Amino acid sequence: MRRHPRGHAPRYRGPFGATLVRDGEVICAVGNTVVKDTDPTGHAEVVAIRVGCRILKTLDLSGCVTYAPCEPCPMCVGAMMLVGIRTCYSASTDDDAAEHGFPVTHLRAHLDGSDTSPFDMIHVTEGRSDCDEIWTEFEKLNA
Ligand SMILES: [Zn+2]
Repeated sequence: MRRHPRGHAPRYRGPFGATLVRDGEVICAVGNTVVKDTDPTGHAEVVAIRVGCRILKTLDLSGCVTYAPCEPCPMCVGAMMLVGIRTCYSASTDDDAAEHGFPVTHLRAHLDGSDTSPFDMIHVTEGRSDCDEIWTEFEKLNA
């Protein structure tokens, strides 16, 4: 078995899944695709959103709830919020995930402001007018 650069054995799927439900009906039940697709964003909750949006032919999953074995990471919470999902049921915690090699505590610490060192968010002013032009063009195209 090839060793992960950090010294951990690769996680083939991870013990992660997600089920998307609306009005008591299962829309989809999926697994994590991170390793299968070489996609670090392939968390089960995100996969459920991708599949659910395709099945329901919408970008708005309001009214859906998610069931996942483990507490969703901040990326997944953000993705669920982005599409209108307001509830996720889970039993395992971040601490459980970290104990088994899937730490996300650094993400939560950054987001709650207790540790801003993992990521620099730099707002630049140079080039702002170019960005304003993009917004203007966008509004023209969608008028
Ligand atoms: Zn996640």
